[in-house]
Amino acid sequence: MKAAVVRENPDGYVDLIDNWEPKALSFGEALVDMEYVGLCHTDLHVAGADFGNPNKIGQRNGAFRRVIGHEGVGRVSKLAEGAGDYLKIGDRVSIAWFYDACGVCDYCVTGNETFCRKVRNSGYTVDGAMSQQAVVNAKYAVKVPEGLDPVEATSITCAGVTMYKSLKVGETKPGQWVSVHGAGGLGNLAVQYAHNVFGAHVAIIDGNDDKLAAAKENGAEVLINRKKVEDVAAEVQKATGGVHTAQVTAVNAAAFNQAVDSLRPMGKLVAVALPQGDMALNIAKTVLDGIEVRGSLVGTRADLKEAFQFGAEGKVKPIVEKVNFADMNEIIDEMKAGKITGRKVFDFTTL
Ligand SMILES: [Zn+2]
Ligand SMILES: [Zn+2]
Repeated sequence: MKAAVVRENPDGYVDLIDNWEPKALSFGEALVDMEYVGLCHTDLHVAGADFGNPNKIGQRNGAFRRVIGHEGVGRVSKLAEGAGDYLKIGDRVSIAWFYDACGVCDYCVTGNETFCRKVRNSGYTVDGAMSQQAVVNAKYAVKVPEGLDPVEATSITCAGVTMYKSLKVGETKPGQWVSVHGAGGLGNLAVQYAHNVFGAHVAIIDGNDDKLAAAKENGAEVLINRKKVEDVAAEVQKATGGVHTAQVTAVNAAAFNQAVDSLRPMGKLVAVALPQGDMALNIAKTVLDGIEVRGSLVGTRADLKEAFQFGAEGKVKPIVEKVNFADMNEIIDEMKAGKITGRKVFDFTTL
């Protein structure tokens, strides 16, 4: 069976192999026949061993190769003992970066399971979704509503739930102003959730006019091309009176500083993107304005279920394009060159 695996000496690309077999099902696990899988920048980091060599984590039988992928959607085709309490044959489920967790620690039992110290991640610490079949922990595989396009669902599995959660972490309320720093895959969905689900006003900041135009179509009211203005934060302040929540989705450290300075007193900065390095935070402004800085990491099963439902209701529509499994390394090159708008989604239904 076909799968995309991390190379023996990880170099940021994948090997597409034909003779891969999923592991035998254990108690509580289910087998999923894959339909669609999106490719994410996180997969590129995994394939490049940027978080450590994934081929050396959780080895089963000595040397093996990790299957990438955490934006998967497919249908359940087999249930191990104990899995039938949670899933049935034919259910459409997702395979997200949050694969499972211990279920009993302080984080797990308080609805903060993504911070569990025993968390496992699809396509990194366990085999992921980029294969014709994949194994899930039935308790943790979130169902995809039948009314939601499965290709679009792949993006909600990752970018969508990440931004939905991040807006929750920012305590976004109807009528408030949200600034979204970066209008890429995350930023575009941030605009849609902020405007269409949370009922907030949105200011979007990016260096690309096409991406700003797309954000406008999705409801952003203030558009700022950071390359064309002298002081991004001053422009946001002028247009909004200062935002209640700043969402940083751009992978550059400068965006963090602009976001802090865009806030109104008691504003919340939510860090979502993961650029290397530190952010500068003015102590006086933080104290005198009561600024809060929070990190937000993907979303729980409950968050994903909600994020899917808003997609099924048509409030959120990811930009997706179906592509062929065989072209994966060429698409990795396009991603590295920053040429992709929205998501390329590999079609397993035609293999
Ligand atoms: Zn992802
Ligand atoms: Zn736990």
